[in-house]
Amino acid sequence: MLSLVKIIFTVGVIYAVFFIYKYRRRIAAAHKHVMDEKAKAAAGAAPARKPGMPVAQDLVPCPKCGSYIAAGTACSCEKA
Ligand SMILES: [Zn+2]
Repeated sequence: MLSLVKIIFTVGVIYAVFFIYKYRRRIAAAHKHVMDEKAKAAAGAAPARKPGMPVAQDLVPCPKCGSYIAAGTACSCEKA
């Protein structure tokens, strides 16, 4: 009777390993598909910035008044 339990356990472990392997392959395939779609979308829609549109700038807090200003520019509190 104990040997039957061992056989069932072994078969269960083999099935578990098989299904984990299968599931991981499916996840990897789905992940690759999503990344390919993202890359395709990025390649198609990346250079969409129109001339005259502001470029994204880093904002830094002013050391004197704490208001956020573009990096490398003088704050209005210093000009006044
Ligand atoms: Zn300031």
